[in-house]
Amino acid sequence: MRPARALIDLDALRHNYRLARRLGGGKALAVVKADAYGHGAVACARALEAEADGFGVACIEEALELRAAGIRAPILLMEGFFDAAELALVVEHDLWTAVASPWQVEAVAAFSTTATLRIWLKLDSGMHRLGLSADEFRAAHAQLSALPQVGPMVLMTHFARADELDCGRTAEQVALFEQACAGLAGETSLCNSPALLGWPQLHSDWVRPGLMLYGADPLYPQASPHACQLRPVMTLQSQVIAVRELAVGEPLGYGARFVATRSTRVGVVAMGYADGYPQFAPNGTPVLIDGVPGELIGRVSMDMLTVDLTDHPHAGHGSVVTLWGTAPTISELAPRCGTSAYRLPCSLKRAARVYLPL
Ligand SMILES: *Cc1c(COP(=O)(O)O)cnc(C)c1O
Repeated sequence: MRPARALIDLDALRHNYRLARRLGGGKALAVVKADAYGHGAVACARALEAEADGFGVACIEEALELRAAGIRAPILLMEGFFDAAELALVVEHDLWTAVASPWQVEAVAAFSTTATLRIWLKLDSGMHRLGLSADEFRAAHAQLSALPQVGPMVLMTHFARADELDCGRTAEQVALFEQACAGLAGETSLCNSPALLGWPQLHSDWVRPGLMLYGADPLYPQASPHACQLRPVMTLQSQVIAVRELAVGEPLGYGARFVATRSTRVGVVAMGYADGYPQFAPNGTPVLIDGVPGELIGRVSMDMLTVDLTDHPHAGHGSVVTLWGTAPTISELAPRCGTSAYRLPCSLKRAARVYLPL
């Protein structure tokens, strides 16, 4: 069997969730959109269900997958519904929905049901992606509050630059949010992972951690006293399936991106960009070889990559190679490969996911 696998540590996931909840100081919606950032939404939601206050997803398809798997906790559609017809499914499956555009306000007003909709009303406080302007927000709050089909609302906004600790934009967004919410009934929801880790003085009733649940640090390389408490959830591993010797001057792999400048022992590893490992990881990208720090050499292929075993005399066929996990972390690996800590686990494909503890 091909040895490429992603080990998913569900205890670490629970640890990170508790940290997020503690930092937020209130309730925490565990964000499991995009298949839990590549970690498997159903397995992650099951692991968290006993303690999570709810789950956040990007669309109704993701919510229905969780409901079909028996998850009964609250689930929020963080982008709302994509067409008015979805409101019937929102009611049928007991979902919560964001309302972030004027057309969604109108769709809710026109929707008749005996059920009570749980709406998260979203303010655009400066991200300028989804969300109502302050005037629209206050008008929508008044309009929706008066409707029998709408229950107590949660007032939310989303930060654009919370990962930049020296940037004033987050404080500006908070001020705009507070101004827009003044006097309005409803719980509040502010922070994503970078805000929880970087701006712990911010408080709202609900926080919405995503990336940090999976143990990655969105603030890296900026120091944060809280991020160092995170535990990586995914370990991407495979094994050496062949070993060969290169003489000085001999090239390795596609494009001869690596050429031996010393007699080099090469380990061929069953892991490639079709598994989600970054194709353009440069020579010298850190890996662990049987737990010892080592380096990638040569271009990453679709199904294989190559590592330098010259200084690992005990390593050989069958040696375990760790591509990311506790070391290197996805936060440190991502910038070296021209990508982000968000994207690396989301790219996971083909490599089998193995959940621990079993
Ligand atoms: C994805 C998302 C989050 C989680 O963001 P992280 O940076 O991964 O913590 C929170 N809120 C909303 C609205 C999102 O879309």
